[in-house]
Amino acid sequence: MSDPTRPGQPHIVAIANQKGGVGKTTTAINLAAALVECGARVLVVDLDPQGNASTGLGLPPDARKKTSYDLLLEETPLEDVIQPTTFARLLLCPANADLSSADIELVANEKRSFLLHDALRQTAMDGFDLDVILIDCPPALSLLTINALVASQSVLVPLQSEFFALEGLSQLMLTIREVRQSANPALRIEGVLLTMYDGRNRLSQQVEADARATLGDVVFHTVIPRNVRLSEAPSFALPVTEYDSASKGSEAYRALAREFLARHPIRERMVQP
Ligand code: ADP
Ligand code: MG
Repeated sequence: MSDPTRPGQPHIVAIANQKGGVGKTTTAINLAAALVECGARVLVVDLDPQGNASTGLGLPPDARKKTSYDLLLEETPLEDVIQPTTFARLLLCPANADLSSADIELVANEKRSFLLHDALRQTAMDGFDLDVILIDCPPALSLLTINALVASQSVLVPLQSEFFALEGLSQLMLTIREVRQSANPALRIEGVLLTMYDGRNRLSQQVEADARATLGDVVFHTVIPRNVRLSEAPSFALPVTEYDSASKGSEAYRALAREFLARHPIRERMVQP
């Protein structure tokens, strides 16, 4: 699935919300794995100093040779940073605590907002034959998140089905608008994804109703339920589809992958979901 406006290039998606604990990393890991099941070649870029996506995809801290810190601040080429995972067609640009100083170090850099964009340029990606790049953002509207938004074609916003969920969204939307005006006019909203949904809970239902009334079609049809398998899987360093293939969490992320693939043209070589 290449971007029709940029033939042969992968579709780059920032997974962003400045709130922590809303399901960004869970979505990065499990949407990636579900897309891979559909035949896509996917790169996850871990842009959070906590490195949870790296751990969740099976790369312990001591196995992270080069990281997204090196990619952004040491000009280490993409091919030296990308590592395979134990899953075919799923690649990782890992992160570790080195990245926690990046925001301060980036301030003085003239190209501070464009470093990830430049690192993911076409020539650097040649040879990886990627369909999708998912960028797992840190929980802040920091320069790291700005780098992700500048480098991406679209942004996927996980929204926890809790009270105050919609609060803070306007700040993210403002940041997206600023990025459009300054650096990336083509940046689209891929969708708002309701996460940790509990159908028996009236609050969850209310949050969904509010989100659909306020945001309309921007909200993904797929809703991710609260599912204990999703929270257990990272401690086994597995995506949920590998940890418990038949779980509600697996089904939900597979449905999200199908919804995502339906919106984007699919490459010939890809297996239909
Ligand atoms: P973020 O990256 O936005 O900080 P995470 O994806 O790390 O959020 O999720 C926060 C916590 O909630 C983690 O412990 C994760 O395992 C758990 N979690 C995320 N999504 C779900 C879900 N749908 N059901 C149950 N637990 C979830
Ligand atoms: Mg996270």
